[in-house]
Amino acid sequence: MWADVHCHFDYFENPAEIIVAAEKAGVKRIIANSTTLEGLHKCLALKMQFPKIISVALGYHPTHIFEDSASKREETMNHIIQHASEAIAFGEVGLDFDEQTSKEEKELQVAIFKKFILLSKEFKKPLIVHARGSRAEVLRILQEENAQKVLLHSFVCKEKQMKDLLKTSFFVSVGAGVLNSEWIQKFAQELPLEKLLLETDSPLEFSGEQCSSVWIPRIASKIAELKGIQAENVQKAAEKNFQALFGKN
Ligand SMILES: [Zn+2]
Repeated sequence: MWADVHCHFDYFENPAEIIVAAEKAGVKRIIANSTTLEGLHKCLALKMQFPKIISVALGYHPTHIFEDSASKREETMNHIIQHASEAIAFGEVGLDFDEQTSKEEKELQVAIFKKFILLSKEFKKPLIVHARGSRAEVLRILQEENAQKVLLHSFVCKEKQMKDLLKTSFFVSVGAGVLNSEWIQKFAQELPLEKLLLETDSPLEFSGEQCSSVWIPRIASKIAELKGIQAENVQKAAEKNFQALFGKN
C-alpha cells in the first residue's frame, strides 16, 4: 500500500478524477489536509464520497491566520474542534515566517500553533506540521509543549538540525521536491527509513507540472535510488510508519 500523507484536494478542480487515478497507481490512503474554513468543508465532503481512500486532517495554514479577522479565526477553530472526531490528524498547522512577518503576526501564529498542540494531545491525534523560515522555532515549540505524535511535512534541514531531529520521535514526509532538488535529495538520503513518510503537497507544481497523489511511487523510487535500496523497502517502511503514526485514528 502507498499513502500520500499531505495534499490539498480542496485546491483541485477535478479531485474525483485524481483519486481514481491514484487508487489505480496503488495509492490506497490519502490524507487531504485543510488550510482554511472553506477547505475544511470541501475535505470532509470528499471523505464522505471516498471513505476508503480519503482521510482528512483539519488545520489552519499559518499564512491564512493573520489575514483572517478575529471572528473568522474563532469560527475556524470552533469548526475544527467540532469536526475533530472525523479527522485522522490536525493539519496543516505550523509556522511560516519571512522578513516581512511582523512580531504581532508571529505571536498569533505561535499562539494558534500551541492551541493545535493542545488539541492534538486532547484528541490523541497527530499533528501535520508546516515549517517555513521557522524550523528551529517549530522544533523547539513542539518539544517544549511536549507534542507526542508529529509529522513534519516537507521538512528539510542541514546536518546540525538533523541531529536535533533524530533525537525526537517525529516523522518526516518527503515530497516531489526530491525529484529535482539536490538539497532535498541529500536530506532524503540521510533521513532514516524509520522516520520516512511520503507526500505530494499537491496540487503544487514541480518543474512546471502539477503533481498529484499518483506521483507517490515515483517519489519513493527516487528515494530508493538515493539510498541505494529497493523501492519495495521504502514502501514497507512508509507503510509501517503510517500505521505507527495514524493507525489508531
Ligand atoms: Zn501543504
